[in-house]
Amino acid sequence: MADILYTYKDSVYANITNKCNCRCTFCIRFVKDGVGDADTLWHQTNPTLTQVLDAIRDFDFSGYNELVFCGYGEPTCQLDILLEAAAYAKREKGLKIRLNTNGQGSAENGRDIVPELAKVIDSVSVSLNAPSKEEYEAVTKPLHPDGFEHMLEFTRRCREEIKDVRWSIVDVLPEEKIERCRALSKEHNIPLKIRKKA
Ligand code: SF4
Repeated sequence: MADILYTYKDSVYANITNKCNCRCTFCIRFVKDGVGDADTLWHQTNPTLTQVLDAIRDFDFSGYNELVFCGYGEPTCQLDILLEAAAYAKREKGLKIRLNTNGQGSAENGRDIVPELAKVIDSVSVSLNAPSKEEYEAVTKPLHPDGFEHMLEFTRRCREEIKDVRWSIVDVLPEEKIERCRALSKEHNIPLKIRKKA
């Protein structure tokens, strides 16, 4: 099986599913198999809850204080495992929990999932990718109609209930688009993180 937990820079990441409801044109999954110390992040079959909990139980988190749900897929596509595993890591390992997400989780699960996330997630990073509906949908290719609006509403709800929430973009965007992302961030009062390309 592929690595469920892997380290990259200063954090431990949990790769709980390869399912995803977007088809981003830049997705690293279509470029290479692994990230950080993981040889491959493609699961033959997606892990079970027991396998994820065992991986967290057996991992030596010395020197780390945060677990990030991210990986080769969208964690909210496997919401049941995400919630259980986050609660377990918090309770048993005393870790802070971050969710990196495409923001389609409520559309995917057919309900507002933010109250459930708020019980176990300390911070959320939502991929903004682009500053307008047309540009977002062209680059992210969400499977749910109105993906841009779903992402906006999800982020807004996270900001209400979880507080430590940001949008992220990568610094490869042209400066003009970055400026419009900054304006969107200001308009919606969502902090914007501009990441360096990995
Ligand atoms: S949301 Fe993430 S995993 Fe899904 S296609 Fe986009 S970059 Fe890849």
